[in-house]
Amino acid sequence: MESDRIMIEEIRPDLFRVEVPLPNSPLKFLNSYVIRSSGRNLIVDTGLNRKECLDAMQLGLKQLDIDLSKTDFFITHLHADHFGLVSKLATTSSQVFFNRPERELIEASGWWERMVAYAGRNGFPENELQAAIRSHPGREFASEWVPEISVLQDGDEIVTGNYRFKCVSTPGHSLGHTCLYESDKKILVAGDHILIDITPNIQCWSDDHNPLENYLKSLDKVNDMEIDLVLPGHRRLIKDHRTRIAELKAHHERRLKEVISILGDDPQTDYQVASRMTWDLDCDSWEEFPRAQKWFATGEAIAHLRYLEKKGLITRRDEGAITRFTRNYHPGLLDAISL
Ligand SMILES: [Zn+2]
Repeated sequence: MESDRIMIEEIRPDLFRVEVPLPNSPLKFLNSYVIRSSGRNLIVDTGLNRKECLDAMQLGLKQLDIDLSKTDFFITHLHADHFGLVSKLATTSSQVFFNRPERELIEASGWWERMVAYAGRNGFPENELQAAIRSHPGREFASEWVPEISVLQDGDEIVTGNYRFKCVSTPGHSLGHTCLYESDKKILVAGDHILIDITPNIQCWSDDHNPLENYLKSLDKVNDMEIDLVLPGHRRLIKDHRTRIAELKAHHERRLKEVISILGDDPQTDYQVASRMTWDLDCDSWEEFPRAQKWFATGEAIAHLRYLEKKGLITRRDEGAITRFTRNYHPGLLDAISL
């Protein structure tokens, strides 16, 4: 049976990594971290709300002898691969710890509709909008209901067994993304703030936000911390966080320069810019991209355009219902981007 091959790794005494499969996703799997104790257990991130994830989690928790009625949850951010399954695992006696900005997002109505309208204004083709949203994994495999949430803020602590975790607010990958830091053991449970082999996706879906700027600040914040081991939300563990952070910053610097180069004299929509950027996908052309990937690419391009606009390096032109951008000409434009 597939489920017999569930991957569980004891990283430190009573701190386990459970590999939760993410079918059809380039992320491959989610790392759920389980801290076992004689008092309350803690589970950090859960998987998508779908059978493959639930089966893996239930089997893993059984092997670890975890009693869910004595278990609390910490969710690093609202994306469905982290939050989605909590509604199936949490019991009436479980506390679900989460951040305030994203609790407000989840509770606000009309969130998806606003994203659709925003994508349309940024050039996402009208005839593909509804289909893109329907195929969005975050919508398909989201939590069915929102459990009662205990809000934690930057600096708040969760104590489980021999572990004392402190919340580290790291907005960027999402609005309220939060890591957990164990300062004695120098461990950072990083969610999707720092990943290796893949780059955390930074998307922007509102003119009110500047996620890339937040993300770069959050990278600097973590860079200054003493960390021996990063436990990321996907893929493998990271030992040297500073080298990886330097690589991630270099990646975004290259991306920003690429966007500037793509923007020429003719005003372009975000979607047009996204279609010309280089993407690490197994497709020959933009037209062949799966719709969900076009959606993520568009959000990522907006994040970079927003950052450049706030830096005064590009200019927006709102023409009717469509937003386009042009670059500003001044000597040393590319040199102005140095992260
Ligand atoms: Zn994730």
